[in-house]
Amino acid sequence: MLVDIGLNLSSNRYDRDRADVLQRGITAGVGRFILTGTNLEESAEVARLAQLHAPHCLATAGVHPHDARHLDAAGVEALRALLHQPGVVAVGETGLDFNRNYSPPDAQERAFLWQLELAADTGLPLFLHERDASARLLDILNATRDSWSGGVVHCFTGSREALYAYLDLGLLIGVTGWVCDERRGQELQSLVRKIPADRLLLETDGPYLLPRDLPSPPKDRRNEPAFLPHIAAVVARLRGESLQQVADATTANARRLFRLD
Ligand SMILES: [Zn+2]
Repeated sequence: MLVDIGLNLSSNRYDRDRADVLQRGITAGVGRFILTGTNLEESAEVARLAQLHAPHCLATAGVHPHDARHLDAAGVEALRALLHQPGVVAVGETGLDFNRNYSPPDAQERAFLWQLELAADTGLPLFLHERDASARLLDILNATRDSWSGGVVHCFTGSREALYAYLDLGLLIGVTGWVCDERRGQELQSLVRKIPADRLLLETDGPYLLPRDLPSPPKDRRNEPAFLPHIAAVVARLRGESLQQVADATTANARRLFRLD
């Protein structure tokens, strides 16, 4: 069994066949799905979907750095209430994204600090998003390390230095179909074997990041959990491990981090 730790199930690209998407994933061997919350509205929606599709689905609740400028003190309290809903297992997406700066960096940092406090208050792990911002993210994580319990850097695409710094902080590393990309995935391909077996997690980030090397890709280029075994097989090959070893390790890691039992 595999766990897809990053699925944006509330995306409108799944509107026509949401339950079928989950069923195809289950048939392909994905037993659990962690649904990603990216703002207050989406977090409420994925919490609802997680309850609707229990026990297969669980959810995160958080405000993505892109949406950080909309988060205010009332929003933080709304987020806190969501984090206490059944099936909500992590704080996030939260973090920093200096790649596109849809929210100004100072608003991103304020929203991130608020969510670190929520993680400290609730004891829930962090579901981190970082793009072109590892140095600042690491500064903040180091400064607050005593308060939060753990977390995952989801969709890791960073440098070797960033990888080792995240590992030093005790964080887990989420690997997506980015690793299947011959060109832009090269660095990740070389780093994936450096991730200790007890720190590795797998995710599709569906509907985004369709693996580029699928034998028969869907015409609409939509990613979904049924493709997670393909990503797991690529990761296994790069690590020189069997698919079973990767499945066992990543599922045990997801169970431990998100306290799925
Ligand atoms: Zn993200």
